[in-house]
Amino acid sequence: MDKVSLTLKNNDSLCDVFSGQNSFPQILTYLKEKKKAQYVIITDSKVKKLHGERLLKFLKDGGLNVFLISFPNGEKNKTRKTKAYMEDIMFEHKCGRDSLIIALGGGVTGDMAGFVAGTYMRGIPVVQVPTTTIAIADSSYGGKTAIDVPAGKNLIGVFHQPIAVFMDPELLKTLDKRNYDSGLVEMIKHGMIKDKKFYDFLKENMKIILNKKHPDYDNVMKKVLLDNLMIKRTVVVEDQKESNLRKILNYGHTVGHAVEKLSNFDLLHGEAIAIGISVEAFIASKLGIMSKDDYLDQRDILESIGLDTKIPKNITTKKIMNLMCIDKKARGGEPEFVFTIKNGQYAVFENGNVSKKVSKEILEKLINEYRKL
Ligand code: NAD
Repeated sequence: MDKVSLTLKNNDSLCDVFSGQNSFPQILTYLKEKKKAQYVIITDSKVKKLHGERLLKFLKDGGLNVFLISFPNGEKNKTRKTKAYMEDIMFEHKCGRDSLIIALGGGVTGDMAGFVAGTYMRGIPVVQVPTTTIAIADSSYGGKTAIDVPAGKNLIGVFHQPIAVFMDPELLKTLDKRNYDSGLVEMIKHGMIKDKKFYDFLKENMKIILNKKHPDYDNVMKKVLLDNLMIKRTVVVEDQKESNLRKILNYGHTVGHAVEKLSNFDLLHGEAIAIGISVEAFIASKLGIMSKDDYLDQRDILESIGLDTKIPKNITTKKIMNLMCIDKKARGGEPEFVFTIKNGQYAVFENGNVSKKVSKEILEKLINEYRKL
C-alpha cells in the first residue's frame, strides 16, 4: 500500500493515509506500532460478516488484544442508543484510555465509531477503514463525527480526527451497485467545487470506475481516491471546524439533506445529494452565478451514473422550504447555499464568504421552476 502522511494546520493532528489493496497486513503493522492495551473493531452487522470477522481473526492471529462490537446496519441505527450500547460493551471489556477504535464500515459506522472514540474517556484514537464509496471518498477523513436525533441528522457529535485511514478499493467489491454508484456523488462534488482536472478525469474514466471488474479498475481507483483525498485535505487543513471554507463541502447539501429527510431516508445520501446538486446548480444558473452550460454539465455527469436528478413528486416544495429554513446551516431562518461559478471553482461572495443566503421567495419560485423542467 502507498502511504501519505497528512498534517492539519495546528500540527497536533497527523493522519496517515494508506491507499491500495490487501490492507489487512498493513493495518496490523500499523496498529502494533501503536502499542495499545486494547483494540476495538466497531462495525455493522452486514460488514461484520463480509469483512469484520476476517479482520478480527487476522489481528488476533497477529497478536493483538482485540474484540469486535457490531450493531444492526442502517442509518436508522445511528442513534444515541447505539452509541451508549457500544460504550457499555467497552466498559464491560474494561477498555481504558489506552485503547484504540478501528471503524470498519460505511459512513454510519465511521461517524458513530468516531463519535465514541471522540468522547470515550474524553477521547481515544480512531483508525478508519472505509468500506463504502461514501466513506472512502468523504466521511472517513476530515474528523466530522455524529449521530442522528429526532430533531435531525448529525445534530450531536464532535470533531475528532482519525489517526489513520486505510483506503482499500478491494473492500468496496462486495458493495451493492446502488450504494456504490450513489456514493460516488461526494467525489464528483469535490471535482465540481475545487478541481476541474479531477472532474474531467472522473468524467473520462467513469465507465471504469463503475465497473469493478475492469482490468484498469484498481489503478484508476487508486489515483481517484488519492486525488480526491488531497482535494478534501486542502479544504479541511484550512478550516477544520467549518468557519468558512469548509462549507464548500456542503455543496448540494442544503436541498439534498432536506430531500433525504423528507424521503424518510428511502433515498440514499448520495441519491439525495445528486438531486441537491442539480437543483442548486440550476439556482446558480438562474441567479447568474454560473452558466446554464455548466449547470447542464453537472446534471449530466450525475445522470451518467444512473442517478435521478428530479425531486420526487411526493416531496412538496413547501416541505423542502420548511426544512431548509430550520437546518443547522440556515442563518436567521434563511437557507444558506454554496455555489460554483463554473466546474471546478466554488463561488466567493461579500467579505470572502463562500456561502450565500437566498431569500425564501426567490428560492421557492426557482425550485418550482426546476420541477417543471
Ligand atoms: P452505511 O454505513 O449505512 O452503508 C450503507 C450500506 O452498505 C449499509 O447497509 C452497510 O451495511 C452496507 N455496507 C457497507 N460496506 C459494505 C461492503 N463493503 N459490502 C457490502 N455492504 C456494505 O452508509 P454510507 O452510505 O456509507 O454513509 C452514509 C452516512 O455517512 C450518513 O449517515 C451520512 O451522514 C454520513 N456522512 C458523513 C460524512 C462526514 O464527513 N462525517 C460525510 C458524508 C456522509
